Amino acid sequence: MKIVMKFGGTSVATGERIRHVANLVADNVNKGYSVAVVVSALDGVTDELGEAAELAKKGNETSVRTFKQKILKKHLTAASKAIENARARKEVEQIIEKTADELEKVLTGISYVGELTPKSRDYVLSFGERLSAPLVWGALRDMKLESQWFTGKEAGIVTDSNFGEASPLMNVTVHQLKERIAPLLEKKVIPVVTGYIAATQDGVVTTIGRGGSDYTATILGVALAADEVWIWTDVDGIMTADPKIIPSAKMLPELSYQEAAEMAIFGAKAMHPRALEPIIKEKIPVRIRNVFHAENPGTLITDVQSTKSTDVVKAVALIRDVAMVNVSGAGMVGAPGSYAKVFEVLGKNGINIMMISTAISEANISMVIRRSLVGRALSTLEIALVGGGLVSEVTAEDDVSVVAVMGANMKGTLGVASRIFTAVARKGINIRMIAQGSSELNISFVVKEKDGENVVKAIHDEFKLGRT
Ligand code: ADP
Ligand code: ASP
Ligand code: MG
Repeated sequence: MKIVMKFGGTSVATGERIRHVANLVADNVNKGYSVAVVVSALDGVTDELGEAAELAKKGNETSVRTFKQKILKKHLTAASKAIENARARKEVEQIIEKTADELEKVLTGISYVGELTPKSRDYVLSFGERLSAPLVWGALRDMKLESQWFTGKEAGIVTDSNFGEASPLMNVTVHQLKERIAPLLEKKVIPVVTGYIAATQDGVVTTIGRGGSDYTATILGVALAADEVWIWTDVDGIMTADPKIIPSAKMLPELSYQEAAEMAIFGAKAMHPRALEPIIKEKIPVRIRNVFHAENPGTLITDVQSTKSTDVVKAVALIRDVAMVNVSGAGMVGAPGSYAKVFEVLGKNGINIMMISTAISEANISMVIRRSLVGRALSTLEIALVGGGLVSEVTAEDDVSVVAVMGANMKGTLGVASRIFTAVARKGINIRMIAQGSSELNISFVVKEKDGENVVKAIHDEFKLGRT
């Protein structure tokens, strides 16, 4: 069996956990499996790097020095707990020190220029994985396993230059991964590849969207023709709702690619929205497993439609960190191509639309986008469209969340929407926008952020999704 194993930030949060991860890998190697590892940054580090970059932009040089010390200490402490062998540890410490020095230089540069471009931001964000992968590599060597570590760029993952949300160029990527990574498995060497980060054809560092290590893992799965991809995380699998909101949420043992994709797209944080894309065609199964309970089988995501379940609704997700942008103008009514202009402006500026809704009056279009992009969306839409006779106003609400209700059996079942909206209404909560695709696998709607968790609870109760 050839397995790609991805370890998320929570799985490698501390030196002790990194050691635990290395043990898990060793157990599987001892069973005779060929294993390739994809690793995320230590829990919280990507967020911290983003914040440090923002502070640096404001010209705060002291903050750069303090931050470097903090990051250095965190990773050196992890090394001391993860790697016992002094020589192996020393090598890792040297890499960490050199990488932290480079990070300090980059942040200092940003503080001098006072500018943070999407490109330099990606460069800063890449340091999380560049610091975690050597730790895992060191811990594996400590277990007497042969291993080699790579950044996404070194491994051969090439993307376009849409910084922050770059798309992998699959043909060249698969070709290079086959050339550089596959031969290691033949030689029983464990490749450790940084998740989330890659590079353009010119070698400029990019990131493939938050939570992108899942995506890196499935790309690697395709390139290596893996038998399965295992996403190790801190919960038992994909559940009927985020167990952090609903402790009684139930684990879903099996999901079809289509169902899982609906859940991922609608943000259940458990997986990157595009992670299933590469493997669906190849029919490679994905397992979501709990790193703290390796004895559990986890959620298996495959090509087969699970027939056992007759539940109409399978799961409900809360998508935070989003904003709703409203574009309105009487000029859009009956004007062919008016929506296309709105989408074009956003698309050209690298802003992905997560959800859309319009009324038959055509005078208004509402879209949900990532909250971090709302400033860019408003300014580009205003510059390009307001005053041209088509659009009179562009507004945004950034204190909203999306609730997504999903299940393959919703298709063609009458009354699901009415049950959902009645459950929400009973709580006295107002719905700001609704969308249902014609796939009928998913109904999504926007509520105020403060109401999000209550709505998830109400729907989870209404459809009795919890443990019985
Ligand atoms: P990792 O560090 O492993 O990438 P993430 O934080 O990205 O972990 O994703 C795992 C988290 O996703 C869980 O801890 C859980 O709180 C959250 N989550 C949200 N919705 C779901 C769901 N439906 N099923 C399982 N986990 C979910
Ligand atoms: N470290 C990145 C993030 O926090 C990628 C990942 O965790 O998958 O988004
Ligand atoms: Mg994740």
